[in-house]
Amino acid sequence: MENSNEHKDNNRSWHAKDVEDVISSLKTDSSDGLSSSTANKLLEKHGPNELPQKKKQSDIVRFFKHFHDVLIYVLLVAAVITTILGHYTDTIVIILVAIINATIGFVQEGKAEKALESIKGILSLKATVLREGKRKEIDATDVVLGDIVLLSAGDKVPADLRLFESDNLKIEESALTGESESSEKRTDTIEEDVDLGDRNNMAYTSTTVSNGTGKGIVVAVGRNTEIGKINQMMSDVAQLTTPLLRQTSQFGKTVALATLFLAAGTFAFGFYFRDYDTEELLLSAIGLAVAAIPEGLPAILSIILAIGVQNMAKRNAIVRNLPSVETLGSVSVICSDKTGTLTKNEMTVKDVILHNQHYEVTGIGYAPEDGDIQQNDKTIDVQDDSGLKRFLQCIYVCNEASIDKNKKGEWIIKGDPTEGALVTVYKKSGLDEEKPKRIATIPFDSDYKYMATLVEEDTDAVMYVKGAPDRLLELATKQLNDDGEAVDLDLQYWKEQITNLAKEGKRLIAAGYKQVPSGNSDIDHDDLEEDLILVGLAGIIDPPREEAIEAIKICADAGIRVKMITGDHVDTAKAIGKEMGIGDGEKACRGADLEKMSDQEMRKAVLEYDIFARTSPEHKLRLVEALQAEGRICAMTGDGVNDAPALKKADVGIAMGIKGTEVTKDASEMVLADDNFRTIVDAVEEGRRIYDNLKKTILFILPTNGAESLLIMASILFGYIMPLTPLQILWVNMVTSVTVSLALAFEGIEEGTMKRKPRNAKEPLLSGYFIWRIVFVSVVIAGGTLYLVQYLTDQGVNNDTIRTVTMQTIVISQLFHLFNCRSIHGTAFDSKFFTNNAIYIVAVLLFALQAAITYLPFMNRIFGTQPLELSFWQYPVYLGLAVFIIVEIEKWIVRKLVLSKQEEETA
Ligand code: ATP
Repeated sequence: MENSNEHKDNNRSWHAKDVEDVISSLKTDSSDGLSSSTANKLLEKHGPNELPQKKKQSDIVRFFKHFHDVLIYVLLVAAVITTILGHYTDTIVIILVAIINATIGFVQEGKAEKALESIKGILSLKATVLREGKRKEIDATDVVLGDIVLLSAGDKVPADLRLFESDNLKIEESALTGESESSEKRTDTIEEDVDLGDRNNMAYTSTTVSNGTGKGIVVAVGRNTEIGKINQMMSDVAQLTTPLLRQTSQFGKTVALATLFLAAGTFAFGFYFRDYDTEELLLSAIGLAVAAIPEGLPAILSIILAIGVQNMAKRNAIVRNLPSVETLGSVSVICSDKTGTLTKNEMTVKDVILHNQHYEVTGIGYAPEDGDIQQNDKTIDVQDDSGLKRFLQCIYVCNEASIDKNKKGEWIIKGDPTEGALVTVYKKSGLDEEKPKRIATIPFDSDYKYMATLVEEDTDAVMYVKGAPDRLLELATKQLNDDGEAVDLDLQYWKEQITNLAKEGKRLIAAGYKQVPSGNSDIDHDDLEEDLILVGLAGIIDPPREEAIEAIKICADAGIRVKMITGDHVDTAKAIGKEMGIGDGEKACRGADLEKMSDQEMRKAVLEYDIFARTSPEHKLRLVEALQAEGRICAMTGDGVNDAPALKKADVGIAMGIKGTEVTKDASEMVLADDNFRTIVDAVEEGRRIYDNLKKTILFILPTNGAESLLIMASILFGYIMPLTPLQILWVNMVTSVTVSLALAFEGIEEGTMKRKPRNAKEPLLSGYFIWRIVFVSVVIAGGTLYLVQYLTDQGVNNDTIRTVTMQTIVISQLFHLFNCRSIHGTAFDSKFFTNNAIYIVAVLLFALQAAITYLPFMNRIFGTQPLELSFWQYPVYLGLAVFIIVEIEKWIVRKLVLSKQEEETA
């Protein structure tokens, strides 16, 4: 695939060319864009619009990296010692284990990376272009030279563009220039000799639109873009580790090193105080070192995480970085937007209120033919009602959305649903006029909460404004009366109307206009300050999502507070909140109140209120900070470009997949493919399940290592025969980690998981009760086995048979112990006993492997095992059962004594 160099020579000077020249040299059209067939041809010719990817490490390097590990070094030292001793079979097996281990690690890492990459693929960058005169959303990689790209706040610029339209367009170019202040964009041709950072008629790949809208012609794609030239990497490297994984691997290393010392000590003890053959003793010391290393643990933990991330993706929650899977499980507050996340974002205008008039609008949804505008049950003819007509013109002209029928004949909106609802009510009235020519626009922004357009109307210029009614009341000085005259604003009247509609949970939009002298080509916020005439008010319903109401109930049980943070009117927010189970319908805090608060007061307010209304994105950041100062683990949703700082700050920043801008997605830890609140709660549930399974796995695997180490140390201490050879120990560790341990990765969610309070995120995993449990189970298994070894020795059983029985005992005890570990504190005998098929599959596999090592002659030779008579199998089964029962009793006691006491304390 050749990447174009065709325009390389004049690449640097696009900013110095007039727009017409750019258009003609790229053979495009500023109002229609390219045709699809030209675009396809160009794509084929020049290849996709991609930045050079970071060079990946070769597979061989990645494979050998898995040998760079203290644990593997211990194994390799063991291999060297066995070679010196002439135990070549041992050497080969030890090296084989190291290789198998590296292979498992390598394969797993590859799988986890693939899983994350495929998830990233879902989040591919999109671009809006004009093709054949129509707006089209395409993958940014399909953008070609000459495409006309439409930019709006929150977009990532998909290619290098020469701008030819700019409505308050501001672009943040720090990715390219290091300058964090956004630069204002214009369209005039500038001198050739200007630095990159000052070329204000250009927009460059990977920079982000922070404000306004604009249009530009693609002048460079892929590696020919400015950022491509300086070879910046497109995507950050995915993190493949999490705090818990790091904690465990650190723990594993500490244990291994401690064991090395213990091994040396045990060797010295055996050498001076016991009558062992030096070679046997040395082998036992090696066995001890090998025993203590949980070889399979890291690989299994990453499998659990990878499976979890995939499960979340299936449930529409796309996790962008692995550590947040753990954080999700400890979330204690979810701050959610209202519109579209808690509500359906299916807007319908139900009321229109003008000076002295109240109209009802019939029908639900976006189909204009399904309703009309009525007063006292009579359809209104809009041509006879100048006030209503003016209002409808305001909301239609100052509007970016359109409605259309899809292939199935259903009416759908293109653009923002609030605006779509306004287009629908316009069409329901029967009006269908051509929109006047637009001169300039102030796009809607959650900070200002209004939108304004300047249009040519006959010979005049008129500015239409629509937005949050309280904002418009601040700007307006007049209102339109029934006779079409501008009279003084009756503030009291409008405030009453606003409160009445908002209390019904309706979203409100007010609209007005202002005559301006013709000749103006631009508008600014200051231009709205005087002489705005308020025309009317629309009340919009946006029904709550039923599944979100359900999810809010689940959160209440799970000790998670849900807070609604909305730009909507305070009464609307209270009413919807009450309907959904957030807040009491009485208490709410407004953005303006937050503004006056000190940080200390803010910390009180975040605990007191659940509804925050008329907020702007800056408030979200302060709310997150206050919640975190109060020790809460906070998830925060967002969609707009200004939400990005709050999402970055939150413990789990959640971006909307549909409504969200590229910038917000980039700042987030998780993206909701369906924008649905319910999905957040599902992800928290999955996060809790994953964390539990990680804990269960650690709890399950480490006692094997503990028991083996204790067994060998105790044998030397008491002068017994060596109950296991290093090879047998390696076999046990490998065989349990590739079979039974994996089963826990598939363990379903425990009953009551979402009835527990959130986990304390600061609490380290491997402390307190966990260490106790690991030591306790290790001692029980080792003690039982040691007793068995002594008993069989007394019976005169030969050493190879004793070792074979010992090996079976440890493996079978682990199998029984697996059932203990399916629930950390709860009983093994719950309704889920037969749910996880993986357990039964691995159990069969394990028996097959154990039978092989016991009965296959070549395995006997390698591992020094002995075929067992049937009667010998009773011992492992008895001991396994005993372990199972003892641990269940221990769990019962802990449940009764410790947990119930803790519950009383927290109650
Ligand atoms: P949430 O933060 O819960 O998603 P929201 O989407 O309602 O809330 P904003 O989008 O900031 O918050 O809207 C705040 C207010 O601005 C709305 O109540 C409405 O009055 C007004 N508004 C919303 N969309 C538009 C628009 N496209 N044009 C003009 N005004 C709008």
